[in-house]
This record gives sequence, C-alpha cells and structure tokens, in this order.
Amino acid sequence: LTQRIAGKGASAWNIHFRAKARQARGEDVIILSVGDPDFDTPPSIVEAAVDSLRGGSTHYAEVQGKRTLRERIANFHRTHGGHADASADNVAVLAGAQCGLYATAQCLLDPGDEIIIPEPAYVTYEAVVQATGAVPVWVPLSADAGFQPRTADIAASITPRTKAILINSPHNPTGQCLTPAMWDAIATLCREHDLWLIVDAVYADLIFDGEHASPDSLPGMPERTVIISSLSKSHAMTGWRLGWVVGPPPLMSHLVNLALCMLYGCQPFIQDAAIAAFDEPPAALATMRDTYRQRRDAVVETLRDSEIVATLSPAAGMFMMIDIRATGLSTHAFADRLLDEHGVSVLAGDAFGPSAAGFVRLSLTVDAERLREACRRIERCAQECHGESRLAARPIN
Ligand code: PMP
Ligand code: GLN
Repeated sequence: LTQRIAGKGASAWNIHFRAKARQARGEDVIILSVGDPDFDTPPSIVEAAVDSLRGGSTHYAEVQGKRTLRERIANFHRTHGGHADASADNVAVLAGAQCGLYATAQCLLDPGDEIIIPEPAYVTYEAVVQATGAVPVWVPLSADAGFQPRTADIAASITPRTKAILINSPHNPTGQCLTPAMWDAIATLCREHDLWLIVDAVYADLIFDGEHASPDSLPGMPERTVIISSLSKSHAMTGWRLGWVVGPPPLMSHLVNLALCMLYGCQPFIQDAAIAAFDEPPAALATMRDTYRQRRDAVVETLRDSEIVATLSPAAGMFMMIDIRATGLSTHAFADRLLDEHGVSVLAGDAFGPSAAGFVRLSLTVDAERLREACRRIERCAQECHGESRLAARPIN
C-alpha cells in the first residue's frame, strides 16, 4: 500500500467513537466531539430531493454540476464578498467540501511542491496534501495572539518550492475569521510570489457578527484564488455530501477531468435539493446561526468565573476552544479523563496541530442547557486535575 494514503487525521475522532459507544450503552454522555449540526435538514430541501427522484432523476448528471446549481453557487459566492464576475463557468460541484479540497490539491500540487498552512488546521489537510506528494509547511498560530495569522510568519515560510497558501476562514477549530487587512496582506504575497490561494470557507455562512470577506474580489486574485465550500454546516446537510469549488476556468476544466474519473458527477436529485437549499428563505438559516451564537454565549457565561479554564469566544462556526493549560494535564489526558470520569467528549486541540496543545475543542451541537451542564462538568474535571497537579508539585518534607 502506498504511504501517500496514510490515513492521518482519522485517529482524531477515536474519542468520539468511544463516546458514541458509551452513549449507545445508555450512559449519560454529552457528545461535543464532532461538528455535525443537531438540526434536521429543512423540510423543503428534503422534499425537493424526493420530488426529483420521483420525477426520474436517476441518470448521470453533468460532471461539472447542473448549470442551474452552478448559477446559484456563483450568485451565493458573489453575494458573500466574492468577485463580481463569478459565473457558472467558475464553479465545479463536488461531493462535499472535503472532496473539493482533495480534488483541488490533486489539480494544483506536484510532488515536492510546498503548501503553506497555518496551524492548528483542520485535521484532514495533512493527508490531503500528502496524497499529492507535496509537503505541508505549517505556520504556527499563537494562542496568545488569539490564533490570528501574522503576515511576517507566512512570508518567512515562502521558498522557491511554494505553490500555494491554504487558509481556512472562518477557522476550524478556533472560530476566528481573517480580517480584511490580513486578506490584503496574503493576497499581496500571492501576487508577488506567484502563488495560488486556496480558501476553505465551509463556515462562511455561520459568521455571528460581520461579513465574510473573499480574497478573489481583490485585484489580481480571481485567476489565482480557489474557494471551497459546501452546504454541510450552513444548511445542516452533512450527510448529503454536496460541496463546490469556485475558481478560474482553467482550473475548472482540470477539476472536471479529475471528477470524470473519480465521481462521474454528483447525484442529480441531491443537486436538485441543493438548488432548493439556495432558495431557502434566509430566516430559516439565520435561526440555526443564531442558535449557535446563543450556545457560544452560554458557554462563555457558564465558564466566565472559572479560575482554571478560559474560553476563546469564536466569531463564527460551531466550535469553541477551551484553554485547559492551568490544569497541568496534557490535552489528551484531560480529554480522556473528561470522558471517562465526567461523561463529556471533546477533541484534544493538538489533533489540529501542536500550537493548539493546551486547548480542547467543543462543538456547539447540543442545546444550551446541555452545554451548560457540560461546562459544569468541564469545570469540575479541571478543578480536580488542578488540585492534583498542585499536590504532586508540593515538596515532600
Ligand atoms: N473543511 C473544514 C474546515 C471542516 O470543518 C469540514 C467539516 N465540515 C470540511 C472541510 C468538510 O466539509 P464537508 O462536510 O462539506 O465535506
Ligand atoms: N468537520 C467536522 C469536525 O471538525 C466533522 C468531520 C467528520 O465527521 N469527519 O468535527
């Protein structure tokens, strides 16, 4: 078996599978270890898929994606800060953002190329890059600077082998968004060094305050920017596997060539459901977004007076980072103990990279009351660990 497909990243969710097994045995476990919305897909979207199937949508679909859907996606992109000329020709429909990331990497990266990625980073990125033979160059984000990238660090990582920069904004796991000034600075680097800018924007529709900025609206960027997104999170459609890539037409034809031998097009009834998703009234989506924001606020409020753990309030998305450094435990040890002794599952921050060691990520995917209960258990666990590490550190007379 080739070492290029080494499955890195998958082990991050082992704790989640353990938690699910315990819950299935009837134990009281609060599962906050995966980013899967606890909402059902809005009924009109489900109806559209059923109608489409009943209407005979059981044949191959256009490999690039149905034109009507690509037009909806281009329109969504334009109204989310994307470049004003984006059209259906700039869009390829793929099976989720994950498939979009994988396909984009295959189309842009050659063995030995370097791709700069701020770290912590979404857990699959390493394997996606490794499968191309390219090399991820990690740029650490400082927890004390709120996990915001610094241009100087990115610039210092550029070498003659650098092909691309991959930015995830809004960011998983930290929930932070790049500022317009930061996009400008990164775009300048891309133009100066002739680099591609790949943007993973799956949480773009879940920003709590402010607007999503898209760097392909900046001068000289449409021809070198690739935006990857999906309906998974914004429309509670993780299981439907519908995502897309927006980029310059030459990349689109390359993606279509790859999609031809990989997917042969996405299911037509799911594409019809996706068209219905773009026709959903904005209020339905705003309700989900507002719920995540209220849950975020519930966590901040419940842990506000803690002297041991601290919250990093996300600007977007469905995750939250909790700083557990004062407990004296490694993040993995803390996450294991939290599940084993207090019945709460979270992901260890270092699954996303060493710069997030000392943090755990929790998903805002249970109601606010359950989240408050989870926070009380996190606080109890942190108190115990803190007490024990102080005792262990005390000199013995
Ligand atoms: N990128 C990031 C940052 C994610 O958190 C996820 C998980 N939703 C994905 C990509 C994959 O998304 P999808 O379910 O659309 O494949
Ligand atoms: N993207 C989600 C997360 O970060 C879910 C991914 C998955 O289930 N593999 O938790």
